[in-house]
Amino acid sequence: MKYVFIYKNNNPASVEMAERLAEMLSANDLTPVSEFSNSTDFVISIGGDGSFLRALQACNYANIPVLGIKTGHLGFFCELSCDDQDTVLDIIKSGKYAVQKHRTIRTEVSTVKGDFVLEHALNDVLVKKDNSSLTHFKLSIGDSFIENFSGDGLLIASSAGSTAYNYALGGSIVDPRLDLLQITPMAPANNATYRNFTSSLLAPPDQKILLEPIDAKKTVVITDGLENHYEDVTRISVSLSDNEIQIVRLPGYDFWGKVKSKFL
Ligand code: NAP
Ligand code: MN
Repeated sequence: MKYVFIYKNNNPASVEMAERLAEMLSANDLTPVSEFSNSTDFVISIGGDGSFLRALQACNYANIPVLGIKTGHLGFFCELSCDDQDTVLDIIKSGKYAVQKHRTIRTEVSTVKGDFVLEHALNDVLVKKDNSSLTHFKLSIGDSFIENFSGDGLLIASSAGSTAYNYALGGSIVDPRLDLLQITPMAPANNATYRNFTSSLLAPPDQKILLEPIDAKKTVVITDGLENHYEDVTRISVSLSDNEIQIVRLPGYDFWGKVKSKFL
């Protein structure tokens, strides 16, 4: 028996699709569940790329296959649309599908009090100050000090997240077969007082990226769109974790084809 966790957004088309799928799975000796547990073997996300990220969060970025069904416009994580109900059943029953594995981004936030918080993400982590004045961070990659960054904030994206916020900030689109972290500055200050890199920096998978707030310690850390506010941050360490997630891909999957149809 397979336990299939169905995650959906609030869009009426998603809710309807989730109901139809749950009935169909039950009629085929499968058990649809509306919450993730340790016995979940398969996840279906219904919505868009944002919903796919919420589905991953709902299962704590577990290393199990997640199939995205889109109810909105074209997505990077979604392989099927609402008309493909029979294909969904075939995939789950046969177990015949390819998965694209992605290492998740591991973010460790340390505070003055000695607290330590661990956050996961697939796309990206954005670090900035909790007010609108200039953010100042000491940025290091591995043992190398890079710069005292001054600007709106720094986005650190995986290859999977390179087509999301990273691209909007002028970062590069990265083939998902490359394991790396891309550090993209948001509005880096460049004047007589401050000097910053204006392009993205690419870091190898085995190196930690370290951010240390220089003045104010109140910091916002946004992982895959989820915002967390911290009072007194001493350091934030970002790296690719050993934990992998699995995106179900169909035979015709073509990353660059998706990129072209979304952006050109
Ligand atoms: P959102 O603010 O509702 O939407 C952000 C947009 O990014 C949506 O159009 C979403 O697609 C799309 N998206 C998400 N992951 C993507 C990916 N890997 N490649 C291409 N597009 C992607 O936030 P959300 O839906 O919860 O998604 C969270 C992500 O939003 C964050 O990880 C961040 O990368 C991104 N974001 C982007 C901007 C920006 O472009 N200026 C600003 C804030 C956040 P769907 O419509 O299919 O959900
Ligand atoms: Mn969204």
